Amino acid sequence: MTTMTATHSAPKPNPYFPIAQLQCETDAGIETIPLSEERAFTSWQPTIPERYQRMDVEELTRRIRAARGTLGDKVVILGHHYQREDIIQFADDRGDSFALSQYAASHQESPYIVFCGVHFMAEAADILAGPHQQVILPNLEAGCSMADMASERDVRSAWRELGELFGGTDDIIPVTYMNSAAALKAFCGANGGVVCTSSNADKVLEWAFTQGKRVFFFPDQHLGRNTGHAMGIGDDEMVLWNWRVPAGNLGGAKVEALERSRIILWQGHCSVHQRFSLTQIEEARAAHPGMKVVVHPECRAEVVDAADANGSTAFIAKYVADAPAGSVIGVGTEINLVSRLAKENPDKTVFCLDPVVCPCSTMYRVHPAYLAWVLEELVEGRVVNRIEVDPAVKHDAKVALERMLALK
Ligand code: SF4
Repeated sequence: MTTMTATHSAPKPNPYFPIAQLQCETDAGIETIPLSEERAFTSWQPTIPERYQRMDVEELTRRIRAARGTLGDKVVILGHHYQREDIIQFADDRGDSFALSQYAASHQESPYIVFCGVHFMAEAADILAGPHQQVILPNLEAGCSMADMASERDVRSAWRELGELFGGTDDIIPVTYMNSAAALKAFCGANGGVVCTSSNADKVLEWAFTQGKRVFFFPDQHLGRNTGHAMGIGDDEMVLWNWRVPAGNLGGAKVEALERSRIILWQGHCSVHQRFSLTQIEEARAAHPGMKVVVHPECRAEVVDAADANGSTAFIAKYVADAPAGSVIGVGTEINLVSRLAKENPDKTVFCLDPVVCPCSTMYRVHPAYLAWVLEELVEGRVVNRIEVDPAVKHDAKVALERMLALK
């Protein structure tokens, strides 16, 4: 069980939420149990050799450390903020997906990049990596439910419909969040669009409005809406495109709403961040008068509006670090990061706003057994679980990423 309140002494249970509430399907496993005992393992990558499935965390830790030592500079291990401690302890760098990809690309001496994160992140690393570098995702089933809500086929179909409605797409700038498949980044690159992250979405949208009349933003409606609000764009100038509506129905939107729109928002969301609610913030503030609330912009608009601050994972980490000693801070993001921030800031009370603190279930699939397996295979000279983006896709995706990087 994860303890979320930190003090000068040993961590104490969170006084705000009874521990009994901190239950969810994967919660009990935050402290690593053998893969074979994980209830969800049946839906994870099954091809990992059987011997790894029964190893306990001590043995896995020993093996990872030994393989890591043997490989030396040949490998860079990247750990996203939302990875569990038993993984993050081996990371050469930890951060968000884009920063990690840049870190890997700046370590050209390492031919292997092991990305402890989800699929789109490994793709981004492959796009930015040198031609001699190979990217490995420890568990191929570690995807992202948000990224999966925007398939290339559905986005292209929506694009066609928008083109028919507006008599062309020249005035529409496609913007994809980093949390999307490489094919969508390439789509943006090939259509005058760009990629954004949660730290630069405002800058990217400002640029997009210099290029066209309206923005087509995918896959996260909340980041798009929150960024639009921060730029003074009202809800009446934003319209939701429901990708579940059969093609030919304008994503369920009305023609007048589309014609009035400045931002067309794809109806995607992050299953972790969409859990945070206004009620949670109100209850936390009632329990801790004077407390601060910081949330990720993938949260709903009413949650972002009620928070004291919102921003990327890097922003949240800095917000907590910069807060004065004694501060009480409720955080709206994934539990592994909140838990780590609580430990790293023992002079503050840091807790997750969500009383049912599920980790991101797909990030969680990077179990240490998978990391031990891919590293020991590398020691033997074998590459397993390589993520390789098609060269043409890579080229166009790079165009969209470079447009973003040019926006200082
Ligand atoms: S936290 Fe949300 S956006 Fe991030 S990988 Fe998990 S589901 Fe995807």
